[in-house]
Amino acid sequence: MTTSSAPRDAMAALEAEVKTCRQCNLCEGRTHAVPGEGDPQSVILFIGEGPGADEDAQGRPFVGRSGQLLTRMLERVGIDRARVYITNVVKCRPPGNRDPLPPEIKACQAYLARQIDIINPRIVVTLGRFSMQRWFPGERITRIQGRIRNIGQGRCAIPLFHPAAVLRDPGKMAAYERLFARLPELIARAQEANRKAERGEGLPPGIPHPGDPDFDVPPAPSGGQASLLD
Ligand code: URA
Ligand code: SF4
Repeated sequence: MTTSSAPRDAMAALEAEVKTCRQCNLCEGRTHAVPGEGDPQSVILFIGEGPGADEDAQGRPFVGRSGQLLTRMLERVGIDRARVYITNVVKCRPPGNRDPLPPEIKACQAYLARQIDIINPRIVVTLGRFSMQRWFPGERITRIQGRIRNIGQGRCAIPLFHPAAVLRDPGKMAAYERLFARLPELIARAQEANRKAERGEGLPPGIPHPGDPDFDVPPAPSGGQASLLD
């Protein structure tokens, strides 16, 4: 773990910018923008859709019913929510919780891109279809939940259902729990890959790469992507 304060400072600056951003119409109806929260040096980043009413009221991501489920899923596998970073595709609440519109996603996308640069996560977990679309365009979450895909730069992406979808359909819970149960092992591997890089046994710290033997995702025997549910 690097002791540099650079990611912390860069994230604090970004969070301040988001709080006063007026780059799309969603700024009109918001109470608070919700930049994201957690550890900007985490190896894992969770990306939801956009703030709901509770998040808008508090300025924090995933604090309503969906957030309580996410927090509980993390806790039951021993992951402290404060040790990961959690954000959304759009940082301001769409009115009445409607889907974010393409121009809103586009306007907000530079913030998410900068957050990914700052955190430099090894693992990106997408929650629901809006964050999934960035790395799995044209896919359907019902088909690909839990497929782990190497997205380059030493990173993988894992698409999961949005917690709200699991709350609506408890039949989705068992697979959801099994997928969260795989995360601690992936996090440990990611941390080990970073430690090795820092010891100079791989590339320099903070520069993970696709061929990293500690964190390269093997192709599935079928030729598709490996699934955490296999
Ligand atoms: N749903 C989301 O997608 N994000 C939040 O922050 C809360 C609910
Ligand atoms: Fe700015 Fe994103 Fe909020 Fe739009 S949703 S006003 S781009 S922070």
